[in-house]
Amino acid sequence: MTMPKTIKNNTTADKTNLELCPVAKKCGGCQLQNMDYLRQLRFKQAKVEKLLGRNHKVRSILGMDVPYHYRNKVQAAFAPFRGSITTGIYQSATRRVVPVRSCMTEDKICGKIVQTAGRIARDLGLSAVDPRTGRGLLCHILVRRGFATGQILVAIVTSAPAFPRKNDFVSRLVDAHPNITTVVHNISDGVPMVLGNRENVLYGPGYIEDKLCGLSFRVSARSFYQINPQQTEKLYDEAIAMAQLTGNEAVIDAYCGIGTIGLVAAARGAAHVVGVELNRDAVRDAIQNAKANKLQNARFFQGDAGRFMAELAEEEQSVDVVFMDPPRQGSDRAFLISLVRLTPKRVVYISCNPETQARDIDFLVKNGYAVSSILPVDMFPHTNHVEVVALLQRIKN
Ligand code: SAH
Repeated sequence: MTMPKTIKNNTTADKTNLELCPVAKKCGGCQLQNMDYLRQLRFKQAKVEKLLGRNHKVRSILGMDVPYHYRNKVQAAFAPFRGSITTGIYQSATRRVVPVRSCMTEDKICGKIVQTAGRIARDLGLSAVDPRTGRGLLCHILVRRGFATGQILVAIVTSAPAFPRKNDFVSRLVDAHPNITTVVHNISDGVPMVLGNRENVLYGPGYIEDKLCGLSFRVSARSFYQINPQQTEKLYDEAIAMAQLTGNEAVIDAYCGIGTIGLVAAARGAAHVVGVELNRDAVRDAIQNAKANKLQNARFFQGDAGRFMAELAEEEQSVDVVFMDPPRQGSDRAFLISLVRLTPKRVVYISCNPETQARDIDFLVKNGYAVSSILPVDMFPHTNHVEVVALLQRIKN
């Protein structure tokens, strides 16, 4: 592996996590805990070069100036602890919960709310689900803060619909943290640390608003939202620049979440945008987000992105630019085959998993596209994850 010299140390992070985090070893969330930040960036650059740089130069990774407390979403498990209850990190391999007081990647305010929620649960005598037996009430808590607006959403996840003393819980939590703007009660489907399909709003509107790239976005508890807003703005700016929008382009935003990329494109030169997303709550958010930002040139549909693309290809729709931002497993064949049939001039592929992205890009390169830019962005400092945005241009008619 090569260690590019082009990455400069422009960061205040010169210590390793082992010096900074008391639970670094037990938690395992920060896999690069033994590297200072500059080495982490070089490690990620080399990883992306190995996977994607065979035939094309990889631009220098965009790092953070201050790579701490960047996460706008904090999740913690409730667990039984010495006859009472604690909050911490769920280790899926051991089914244990490691108690955590503070975390250097998480937003401090969100972290404090988690601590308060644990204290209230203890004071009210509520039980936590025991990961070994599955018995108990409280499963986990999710706190999400809009860094630009200060609005805060709390989701309390329980094992069953009955949530005794829930009104007491909410009023104590909001009294302690008046900046909380909404609280929802989510009922687990049995998958640890994942929100279930049933949800009741206990306080406020059930979503928060945040701002990105000059637009405003509402985000519900179950909608996907990028966890590092500072780096997300850099990522989206680059993605939009790669799309080279001139005012005439028909654009698709595939795997669009709450419509963030598509709406930024709609505001910055796309003629019109069509977004597709599987999660119903996220699509509802996206439709509202188009209205709230007065962007009449964007529409959003709920469904599987692969099927949606197949329908567009069947109808021989004309598409100029496709933004695609699939989950970790990448896109499926149905999606990629239809993408090629639609013959967009440019494909801007954003991914949080360069392994599946490399596989999908190989398919596109064999089917009429050439890679013309690859840029890694460090969205997740101290972890081994890396985000990559790549531009592919059509070379065959
Ligand atoms: N582009 C958005 C979201 C990216 S995350 C953003 O930047 O915020 C990936 C999204 O793909 C998630 O919202 C997830 O719900 C959605 N998704 C997963 N599988 C899908 C599928 N088969 N079809 C459409 N959307 C899917």
